[in-house]
Amino acid sequence: EAAINRIAAGEVVERPASAVKELVENAIDAGAARIAVDIAEGGKVLIRVTDDGHGIAEADLPLALARHATSKIDGTDLLNIHSFGFRGEALPSLGAVGRLTVTSRAAGAAAAAAISVEGGAIAPPRPAALTRGTVVELRDLFYATPARLKFLRSTRAEAQAIADTIRRLAMAEPGIGFTLRDLRDGDARTVLRLDAETGDLFDAMRARLSRILGAEFAENAIPLEAEREGVRLTGYAALPTYARGSSQAQYLFVNGRPVRDKLLSGALRAAYMDVLPSGRYPAAVLFVDLPPVEVDVNVHPAKAEVRFRDAGTVRGLIVSGLRHALAAEGH
Ligand code: ADP
Ligand code: MG
Repeated sequence: EAAINRIAAGEVVERPASAVKELVENAIDAGAARIAVDIAEGGKVLIRVTDDGHGIAEADLPLALARHATSKIDGTDLLNIHSFGFRGEALPSLGAVGRLTVTSRAAGAAAAAAISVEGGAIAPPRPAALTRGTVVELRDLFYATPARLKFLRSTRAEAQAIADTIRRLAMAEPGIGFTLRDLRDGDARTVLRLDAETGDLFDAMRARLSRILGAEFAENAIPLEAEREGVRLTGYAALPTYARGSSQAQYLFVNGRPVRDKLLSGALRAAYMDVLPSGRYPAAVLFVDLPPVEVDVNVHPAKAEVRFRDAGTVRGLIVSGLRHALAAEGH
């Protein structure tokens, strides 16, 4: 069983940044207002994610670490299981590839409890000190699989990938405060600090994007809002005058989660076709929200791929939404 878990875990946890993605997503799902990530040695030695969300009841702690246990789907939701992709995989996978400790205090609980798993063996919960929320600590990633450890990149590159992962997740959650700290020689260096943004959604989004993509993007970006057949598009797209030399500043989120899909670059190209010189790429951050049954997120657990049931509608919505917004600005 431990071996099977380890193989399956490799699918979910490719590198420290994938562990951070899973843990931060869990904290977001728990309704956290602040999420703090601490790492050591590019996450290879330590990843610690602290949140102030609703926590996990002591009785549920062993369940949270068990395979395919998720609190996010109940029996009435069977049809949606596939759409949500791989569920209840993250914590057990992390427990299979590193030394994992989850400390939590459920909202309203009298005390906190902690549970650890090492080499697939889950110890019983023990009393712990924590005022609220959850702390997940993953130490010594891939310690039992030196071959995987060898494939990791430099500490600097892994730390960079973690920062990118947090920036990307934070784009979709302007109301949540994020920090990333690098622990070294007893010192904590703040790498990233994104305070919670307030105000209406578009103001908060613009402010958050300004912090992440730069003030120049935010100043040159126009808000998008469109809907078609139950699919909703929001976000910001840069004016043609702010075109980039690469397609790197193009971000797509589906139901709040960052994804990669060729549909995005194609739709952006089509929408800006008449207003951008060739060799220039539009910058945009697009949020597509649609009923979960209309999309498979996480076709593969580690790669953020999506499969739309009706890709044509989504593409059409993005192209027309962008064209409309650009035309309103005189482009
Ligand atoms: P999933 O997120 O797909 O449900 P995970 O393995 O990531 O699966 O987490 C298992 C369960 O543990 C979640 O469904 C949730 O109930 C609980 N959990 C994990 N992390 C947190 C957290 N930070 N706060 C509250 N509950 C959590
Ligand atoms: Mg999860």
